[in-house]
Amino acid sequence: CGIVGYVGERSAEDVVIGGLRRMEYRGYDSAGIALVLDGKIVSAKKAGKLTNLDAELAAHPLPQANTGIGHTRWATHGAPNDRNAHPHLDQTGQVAVVHNGIIENFAKLRTELEGLGYEMVSETDTEIVAHLLQEALKSTDDLSDAVRAVCRRLEGAFTLVFCDARHPDVVVGARRNSPLVVGRGEGENFLGSDVAAFIEYTREAIELGQDQVVTITPNDIVVTDFNGNPAETKDYHVDWDV
Ligand code: GLU
Repeated sequence: CGIVGYVGERSAEDVVIGGLRRMEYRGYDSAGIALVLDGKIVSAKKAGKLTNLDAELAAHPLPQANTGIGHTRWATHGAPNDRNAHPHLDQTGQVAVVHNGIIENFAKLRTELEGLGYEMVSETDTEIVAHLLQEALKSTDDLSDAVRAVCRRLEGAFTLVFCDARHPDVVVGARRNSPLVVGRGEGENFLGSDVAAFIEYTREAIELGQDQVVTITPNDIVVTDFNGNPAETKDYHVDWDV
């Protein structure tokens, strides 16, 4: 439902939780966050309101990090419980994904992944995306390339945002039939399902087009189509109040 991604110098936890809070009006049943430390992903997720996640983070604080992703979930596949909340991690714990929408062909892909030995830990359509990414990363070290390969296999509606422990300064997003906006900062960049995700920090936005992948680092924003070709984007200034 609500998605935030951040790379920069601020506390990623503060930016992500703040962004999720500004999108609370959209409604949701669970919330979660993943932060990238050097070589490691840490995450926390909880069914219920953001105050439940706040309590979890207060009881078990996450280390300070400058890269992170977050999600508020409106369950479509699997009950709204802690396990089904996003982010979902791959089996190595190296990559994390959050997702808005529905992967229509997830049952077929899940069967294929189970055939390869993957064990599902949730009932969501989203979890398969983490495992597909793990598979794709066997043939490339480039997270954006791997994300594009995964997107080419997915049907349905998705806004996806990923982080990878091996690339602590990178967040990658992708979209089809579901919105994703980039917030352009100085020495920091943002992703959001909605400009409310980052409006506190920047009003310079880029709206991603259909079937596009965006890679953000603190000083760079690169947009391609699902095949890796450079893509046209539309820049705009957000001059309304959210
Ligand atoms: N289909 C996904 C799930 O049920 C994402 C739902 C959403 O858009 O929040 O977990």
